[in-house]
Amino acid sequence: MTGSAALVSVDPDAIAANVRTLAAASRGELMAVVKADGYGHGATRLARTALAAGAGRLGVAHLDEALALRRDGVDAPVLAWLVAPSSDFGTALAARIEIAVSCVETLRAVASAATDGRPASVHLQVDVGMARDGAPPGAWASLFAEAAQLERTGRLRVAGLMGHLANAEDPAHPGNAQGTAGFTAARELAGSHGLRPQLLHLAATAATLHLPRTHFTMSRVGAGLVGIDPAGRTPLRFAMTVNAPVIGVRRVPAGTPVGYGSTWRAGRATTLALLPMGYADGIRHCAARRAAVQLAGRRCPVVGAVSMDQVVVDAGDAPVAAGDLATVFGPGDSGEPTPRDWARWCGTIPHEILTGLGTRLDRTAAPTHRVPALTGAR
Ligand SMILES: *Cc1c(COP(=O)(O)O)cnc(C)c1O
Repeated sequence: MTGSAALVSVDPDAIAANVRTLAAASRGELMAVVKADGYGHGATRLARTALAAGAGRLGVAHLDEALALRRDGVDAPVLAWLVAPSSDFGTALAARIEIAVSCVETLRAVASAATDGRPASVHLQVDVGMARDGAPPGAWASLFAEAAQLERTGRLRVAGLMGHLANAEDPAHPGNAQGTAGFTAARELAGSHGLRPQLLHLAATAATLHLPRTHFTMSRVGAGLVGIDPAGRTPLRFAMTVNAPVIGVRRVPAGTPVGYGSTWRAGRATTLALLPMGYADGIRHCAARRAAVQLAGRRCPVVGAVSMDQVVVDAGDAPVAAGDLATVFGPGDSGEPTPRDWARWCGTIPHEILTGLGTRLDRTAAPTHRVPALTGAR
């Protein structure tokens, strides 16, 4: 690369350690969720690392995400759950992708895309309290009846039953017990239709860590792989570090206005450092006035408005020079901010910080968690 892009590095050891923490907490097997390019970490890279550390299956939202894993040679079972009745199920089934289904129309479309002698493997998805994806309770009976009918034709096999909790990040929330009871009821109703799904999965990361009654036979974990405990309790390790090179330095007198709108003025003579990362790259515009990066061994505040491509940080009297690396976020070992800090500064969740990085970052950096030397010897 040309040296003016921010650098993303991903620590496979952190991911592996997180998988082990999640596996130790879970009563069932683990499905590693690698949607949204592996929560920004690279889907195939995250998938391979999680599988090597003990996950048995993969999950994604879109069929295209599942197909991309297959194109990269990932062979493990993959489930995709965000499909439309009009999706290309023939291509998906040919690639041995399992499909989560929440309505009769999609169920029929999947079954008719199956080739003779090779039933489509589906997971029936039920809504247990978030009115998002999944069949609403009033539609369970007709979905199960149709699935049982199609199973008898040999065109379909119900491999799993799937639900998702709305409030697991708050383990004490009463919705967790309600959702779990709903899932148990769905399982019983499925059984009464003659369905015997082997994979029963309700828990995502937060429930895997904090709600053992939700574990059934499998957990789907995504956020936890990359270091996020949505409940903010477990010492998982953030796997991603973003470093940005200083591409310009200037000494300015007190009163100097910085950036669009002159929203900040230097309170005293100081050194300003320019970083080649702006809101198009994932430094949120709303982070101005709160955010900081780690530069020259200290926290340096982002000053002035965040531009599309660049931000200015106030390095004070630190001896910074072009070519030094600022750490935008990382696991926190060297005092750098974490994705959780950025989430707080931006009024969002760490998931959005990690998945919101732009396409201009250099993702070819060696997979390491080591923060490069902050200031070179000069
Ligand atoms: C994203 C997603 C998951 C993973 O949730 P995490 O909290 O990131 O572990 C699990 N199930 C479904 C349906 C999802 O959409």
